[in-house]
Amino acid sequence: MAYAYDDQNIFAKILRGEIPNNTVLETEHTLAFRDIAPKAPDHVLVIPKGPYVCFDHFCNDASAEEIVDFARAAGQVCKMLGCEPGHGGEGFRAITNAGEDGVQEVPHYHLHILAGRPMGPMLLMR
Ligand code: 5GP
Repeated sequence: MAYAYDDQNIFAKILRGEIPNNTVLETEHTLAFRDIAPKAPDHVLVIPKGPYVCFDHFCNDASAEEIVDFARAAGQVCKMLGCEPGHGGEGFRAITNAGEDGVQEVPHYHLHILAGRPMGPMLLMR
């Protein structure tokens, strides 16, 4: 079944300019901006401009142009943050949450890039 995209989600409003954001990078198909409640010294969200709900939706339905643009923009953000491991930076964590089990809050696909401190274990076990 196709994903239904809710165009009233907060990132859709950011993309339409209805809500301000702290932009790090903007390209033809991608926007990167600082998370409003950062979980690390650097916490940037990279989002496609297209109406994709989550990671698998984007991977399956976005055009090759959108996917390449998104990947290059995410790589550029790592460069801009100076966190590339082995290239002067100390590394980072890139996370995407999807759906209920992934505990996704905002139903517009986004990649979290977290840097500036050791991130600890990948997941809390419970
Ligand atoms: P999720 O849980 O969906 O993976 O992550 C959603 C992220 O969006 C959270 O880290 C949250 O802090 C961030 N967020 C929610 N509302 C806003 C907003 O209005 N502006 C910005 N910049 N980030 C937001």
